[in-house]
Amino acid sequence: MEVMNYPLEITYVIASVLFILGLKGLSHPESARRGMHYAEIGMLLAVIGTLLSGEIVTWEWIITGMVIGSVIGTAMSVWMPMTAMPQRTAISHSFGALAAVLVGVNEYAVHTEKAYGIMPALGFEVLFGALTVTGSLMAFGKLQAIITSAPITYKGQNFVNIALFFITLVMFVYLIFFPNNATIFYVMIGLSFLIGIFVVLPIGGADMPVVLSLMNSYAGLAAAATGFAINNKMLIIAGSLDGSSGFILSIIMSKAMNRSFANVLFGAVGTPQVDTSQLAEQRPINRFTIEDTKFALEQAERVVVVPGYGMAVAQAQYAVRELSDELEKRKVKVEFAIHPVAGRMPGHMNVLLAEANVSYDQLLEMEVINPSMDTVDVCIVIGANDVVNPAARTQKGSPIYGMPIINVDKAKTVIVMKRSMATGFAGIENPLFYEPNTKMLFGDAKNVLQELVAEFKKK
Ligand code: NDP
Repeated sequence: MEVMNYPLEITYVIASVLFILGLKGLSHPESARRGMHYAEIGMLLAVIGTLLSGEIVTWEWIITGMVIGSVIGTAMSVWMPMTAMPQRTAISHSFGALAAVLVGVNEYAVHTEKAYGIMPALGFEVLFGALTVTGSLMAFGKLQAIITSAPITYKGQNFVNIALFFITLVMFVYLIFFPNNATIFYVMIGLSFLIGIFVVLPIGGADMPVVLSLMNSYAGLAAAATGFAINNKMLIIAGSLDGSSGFILSIIMSKAMNRSFANVLFGAVGTPQVDTSQLAEQRPINRFTIEDTKFALEQAERVVVVPGYGMAVAQAQYAVRELSDELEKRKVKVEFAIHPVAGRMPGHMNVLLAEANVSYDQLLEMEVINPSMDTVDVCIVIGANDVVNPAARTQKGSPIYGMPIINVDKAKTVIVMKRSMATGFAGIENPLFYEPNTKMLFGDAKNVLQELVAEFKKK
């Protein structure tokens, strides 16, 4: 009979509670930092508890692993810029999933005789673990532009992928009844690695963050299965939390991009479905100078700032805060409208604005701001493009048609800060820039905002 290690079990329970509190904290920007701290302490307790569990065979490898992992983790957190966060996450998922596969292979190799009882969990662990390893690496490659971000497609692709998955599934079921067939076990892992590559190939770079959160979910499920396989309750709980939260996030992101899950995974998207050149704008644009912008803002009572990916690239969040302070000094009401997929990862804008100490009360979600957009005197669009593109409402056949957007075009005046007329992530023209109430203020967002703030401070 299994002997209970009470101190370890209690440590695991406390760690699990901290993980749940961590997730709860992450549901609001104000409590997000606290949530992260709960999760960090939870993870520390789980690691310490496991190390002291009395089952450690060799400390040398554990310490070597911890040192290598800490060096890589520290280097990534120090040197990888905020804008590369999706790539960073992709690599982390790949490592996590690789750990699950290695634990699974070890469990199989060392305890093959036990494999009868645990094969459902073990098979699930290595299958999902392996496809997450390569799938996440592919996502990393696409986001880092090592591999083309365009969807790579060929005739019969979905058939090949489904067939591959079906064969792997048949091997998995076979192993549940005949777990001692090591060849099938390792071939199944090999095929799972291939599935990860093949499944991500046809998905466009624009959809990689959805893929990432799905991979996050798979890595969590693999970890939970590892927990069942090696009888570790901590892994079961943490893996399930990871698996379910990743899945929910994928659904939220798909909805915000007006895409179904199936469309992301099998639609070979990222390729425009219409010839967008037919939609090429002929209208002239209106330009604004710093002085024009200052004048318009001074006259306004209500100003709404809409940040996008360009604000992150320019690292303009501090300058935005300063502008907001200057306007508030002049009794202008300033609010920030946040689109759920602005930037390149969920919560991207919230993180940056929180870093610059923009008050949470000023942040409004798209659904909250849209109904009163026509009462906004000036809307300042800072490095946002797709999330304010009215083509999503009006141009049937546009790749973003149906995506909910922030209706900045309804504001009395719209000032768009960007460097050129270049397109955003979806690669399509934005009719907003040609509207009579839109004024283009060209330049790097940070430089332009700093000049504007300096202009306000002049008198
Ligand atoms: P976009 O990618 O649509 O546009 C960003 C704009 O910023 C560009 O048009 C660019 O124009 C401008 N820009 C770049 N650098 C600077 C700079 N230094 N200063 C000023 N402007 C700059 O960003 P959005 O945030 O509007 O939209 C996000 C896109 O990413 C959506 O298509 C969304 O679906 C997609 N996406 C987001 C995810 C998420 O989780 N957030 C997940 C998956 C996809 P220019 O070069 O002329 O300056």
